[in-house]
Amino acid sequence: MYSRRKFIKVSAAGASLAALSNASFASGVSNSADSFPIVISTWDFGIAANKEAWKTLEKGGRALDAVEAGVKIPEGDMNNHTVGRAGYPDRDGHVTLDACIMDEFGNCGSVAAMEGIAHPISVARLVMEKTPHVMLVGDGATQFAVEQGFKKEKLLTPESEKAWKEWLKTAKYSPVINIENKQHAPGNQYNHDTIGMLAIDAKGNISGACTTSGMAFKLHGRVGDSPIIGAGLYVDNEVGGATSTGVGEEVIRNVGSFLVVELMRQGYSPEDACKEAVNRIIKKKPQTARDIQVGFLAINKKGRYGAYAIQPGFSFAVCNTEKQDLLVKGKSIY
Ligand code: ASP
Repeated sequence: MYSRRKFIKVSAAGASLAALSNASFASGVSNSADSFPIVISTWDFGIAANKEAWKTLEKGGRALDAVEAGVKIPEGDMNNHTVGRAGYPDRDGHVTLDACIMDEFGNCGSVAAMEGIAHPISVARLVMEKTPHVMLVGDGATQFAVEQGFKKEKLLTPESEKAWKEWLKTAKYSPVINIENKQHAPGNQYNHDTIGMLAIDAKGNISGACTTSGMAFKLHGRVGDSPIIGAGLYVDNEVGGATSTGVGEEVIRNVGSFLVVELMRQGYSPEDACKEAVNRIIKKKPQTARDIQVGFLAINKKGRYGAYAIQPGFSFAVCNTEKQDLLVKGKSIY
């Protein structure tokens, strides 16, 4: 799959990190100095997203505006088949997108299983700002987006359609791993990637955004953790924020991002909070956890960040005044 797989291969081969758009690379997982503004996000595509968010943060702008602008970069990237408009479709060929956003006041908005709209994060923001609701799903979400002036378009790209038809030939839908077809097996560790982004602005306020096309070739109507407040994303401006990536079902079962924030409230460092949340997933389903990926990324009120994943290969990007393109290799249990 796309860039994360490339990243794993590049690292394994010990090849030049110049392949990662000249990003600097660190294998530590947490900073110690208080620092903000700051923006962090999941995976290597987070570098480009962070840079976009930084344009708002460096001007003294609001974290909420920064995270929305930032995650729109992978959402609009035609080479990204796990987030936004070029995402892989579900089992029936529909591209259905999930996203949520949360601000420093505890306001939040979300869309799930939405079709035909390229930037679900912006629709989620309008759900938050213009409706009395938190979440709109399916046709209702699309209808709301169109009413708000979003263009309805066909999202299934020729490349995604080809991949879907290829998958249809060899795999019937199953949430279990298909070893013969690892790359496309629903539910496995290879076909997930979500951008979860957390930012603290110059005023010290925290916001977060999370957006994905979800599990490739999922059942029509399947919703993962990413648009669910508390699962894929949670922000408490007194404490910090957390976001997740990977097999959403396991994150939902454990209300993962809320758990990470609550652990930080109890005094855990961001990294330790993420590790504990990952361990809860493993403890509940040790067999399942062997073959899936889930990663958490968190930041606390002081701008300290950390991450943890079940499997190796998880990376996250950091951008602050010192460095705009830092890529950090997340620690993992296995
Ligand atoms: N968490 C997302 C989902 O389960 C996908 C991912 O991060 O890979 O829908």
